[in-house]
Amino acid sequence: MTRKEFAMSTSWTSMAFVSAAVMVSSAHMIGQAPASRSLHEHAIVMDAHVDTTQRLIFDPRFDLGARHDDGNVDIPRMREGGLDAVFFSIWVPGEVTGPIALRRAFDQIDAVREVVRTHTKDLVLATTAADVRRAARERRIAVLMGVEGGHMIDDDIRQLRNFAALGVRYMTLTHFKNNNWADSSTDTPVHNGLTVFGKDVIREMNRLGMMIDVSHVADKTFDDVIELTSAPVVASHSSSRAIANHPRNMTDDMMRALAKNGGVIMINYHAAFLSEEFRVASEKRNGDVASALAEMSAKCGGNEACSTMESERRDRQAMTAGQLPKVGWEKILEHIDHAVRVAGADHVGLGSDFDGATMPFGMEDVSKLPAITDALVKKGYSNRDIEKILGGNMLRVMEAVEKATDRLAASK
Ligand SMILES: [Zn+2]
Repeated sequence: MTRKEFAMSTSWTSMAFVSAAVMVSSAHMIGQAPASRSLHEHAIVMDAHVDTTQRLIFDPRFDLGARHDDGNVDIPRMREGGLDAVFFSIWVPGEVTGPIALRRAFDQIDAVREVVRTHTKDLVLATTAADVRRAARERRIAVLMGVEGGHMIDDDIRQLRNFAALGVRYMTLTHFKNNNWADSSTDTPVHNGLTVFGKDVIREMNRLGMMIDVSHVADKTFDDVIELTSAPVVASHSSSRAIANHPRNMTDDMMRALAKNGGVIMINYHAAFLSEEFRVASEKRNGDVASALAEMSAKCGGNEACSTMESERRDRQAMTAGQLPKVGWEKILEHIDHAVRVAGADHVGLGSDFDGATMPFGMEDVSKLPAITDALVKKGYSNRDIEKILGGNMLRVMEAVEKATDRLAASK
């Protein structure tokens, strides 16, 4: 019995889940070659960005430990998909600012820490690469946190330190809107990248050993970060602009700069970031991803679990009905291939955006992850490169950022 099969059979609380899982996973594995299956089971598989935190906050009946037929992530499906480590996003929309944004961020950090505390058989809070490796040995899923949107520090560097102290390991500098110190890729630039305070935030993140996340930021903000940072940076959930021309995606030049910096781009599975055809058609139908989400959020009365899940339901229905081009999960591979060609296999990873985006067909939830490993094997990727893409590259960046903070401390 392999490590993950053992974990699967011991960690689930109800026999009903076990038998359901065996049925689903054996059905799934018929289509998967044994070589890629064992590779997936032995690799440390990481997802750098899921929005499941919103379900914890807005749906009091939501139990992460139970298998659900909606949404993309829960413990049984993470086990089934062989996921070893996952970054839960701490996200408040960019329209919400000031002390309210800060308060809501702290509530979400508490919700993540509490869900870990109440599921210790399956989950463990991790803040370092060593924690993630230990969790894998203990057959528990490592839960990490990333703050998605620098507006949540309320323009107060002390709050950045508070986030770090509570276990937050990365901060995405902006969300869809500019904040008071950084320009976003989906807003009209006002700061020409980072302000003087924005640059202080970068230096403090380096000092704290918190990873800088360049997903969502404007191209000039990205350039400013690359010039200033003393540690590798990540794009926790971004795809390739050469394939899908959305400003949220990264250009080839940005990918090359990220590689030179030692960082990683984690491919986002959102249909409009994967497929140019879908992006154009869905923008015509619903407006850009930022305005469409804001509109859905208003319809949902500010319930962000509702807004993301309803957006996905709407898009998937439209794809099924032929009103939007159908996007298949193979598109994810196209983006991985492209990023590997441009940035190299040492600089690519996975950042699904599960529970925060419209998933392509065949990647309905986290249980489908082994399909990616299988496809990479079939494409002729080496085992070493596949392990790096599945999680090794992110672990390397975490270690580098941890070392950089030690170096900074020593030089003081
Ligand atoms: Zn995002």
